[in-house]
Amino acid sequence: MDLSFILNELGEEREFYFNAISPPIVQTSNFKANKVDDLYGLFEDEYSGYLYSRGLNPTVDILRKKLAALDGAEDALVFNSGASAIFASILANVKSGDHIVSVRNPYTWAQRMFEVILPRFQVHTTYADGRDTAQIEAALQPNTALIYLESPSSWSFELQDLRAIARLAKEKNILTICDNSYCTPLFQRPIEMGIDLVLQSATKYIGGHSDTVAGVLSGSKAMIKKIFDSEYLNIGSGIQPFNAWLLIRGLRTLPARLERCTRTTKAVVGFLQAHPRVERVLFPLDEAFPQYELASLQMSGACGLVSFYLHAQSRQEIVRFCEGLHHVLMAVSWGGHESLILPKCAGIREEAFDPGNADHRMLRLYVGQEDPEYLIQDLDQALRIR
Ligand SMILES: *Cc1c(COP(=O)(O)O)cnc(C)c1O
Repeated sequence: MDLSFILNELGEEREFYFNAISPPIVQTSNFKANKVDDLYGLFEDEYSGYLYSRGLNPTVDILRKKLAALDGAEDALVFNSGASAIFASILANVKSGDHIVSVRNPYTWAQRMFEVILPRFQVHTTYADGRDTAQIEAALQPNTALIYLESPSSWSFELQDLRAIARLAKEKNILTICDNSYCTPLFQRPIEMGIDLVLQSATKYIGGHSDTVAGVLSGSKAMIKKIFDSEYLNIGSGIQPFNAWLLIRGLRTLPARLERCTRTTKAVVGFLQAHPRVERVLFPLDEAFPQYELASLQMSGACGLVSFYLHAQSRQEIVRFCEGLHHVLMAVSWGGHESLILPKCAGIREEAFDPGNADHRMLRLYVGQEDPEYLIQDLDQALRIR
């Protein structure tokens, strides 16, 4: 299916809403039934039609069709956050006594689920270095029910060989889930590599304007229906119609935004690499990146997030750099129009700061939609502050 068709036409039945180009926000909680037997059918299977907007909603359905097609998946659900997509996808696929293998340092709220919530139900998780498939394999136990992946990860961009891990998991009947937030389906399609469930935080590039929190989960029709019938309806964490509409709007310009972001990121990476105050730059499609080969094999692009290590003797030097930026904003999240900086040392007290530990001197930059020269000038002036 053409990308342009997916973004401009798929799922949109304009003749049903006055030929409006932009779809309506069907802001309703419930839907009228004409026959008792229609209600009977919906009570039997809420996935079969419109009953109540905690389940299906027409505006959300337009978005679901587009997102499933982008992922190359049979079906998709959209949640009111990436974290709830993570929560539902994992919860639906484990039972008491099961074991999970996860990549090291997955996204914070996946980690909280593995360490705080699931152990209460006798579900335990082993972390493995996902850069080495053999270590994932070695961590498997007879009761391993799922393998949780995030490729690349959002700080150090560690990759997993998705095809190899999917093959290994299929042989052993283990479910695989991959967080694809960094790449979006435009740059990486894990389902086509054999991964069972793919998720992303739509708060990032799909929304693209830092005004919506949402998450996407894609997979087979049977798996998505299973999650809809239990976790999705029960937790009540589906996206609201207005937010779904904002994401449809975000999708229209996704390729253009990623294209511009790719060009700007290249320029910014080049600037940082050449700067004497920068010790090292991490970016998956940089030839010096340790997993560059795998990145070029399974990703068709990369942009936006770049990490780097600053030469610094104290936490104050990093603080002065961050607070000295005029245009790059200090904030969490990414994927919006605005460039952002996030220093690792924000989580480290002054007394605990160790300049010998490179991780303490690590910063994550998100490159937004601004002009490259505008950003480089801002970084340059802030790097001059000592
Ligand atoms: C932001 C993020 C999430 C969570 O998404 P929310 O929409 O913030 O709940 C999950 N994974 C990664 C890699 C993220 O960056």
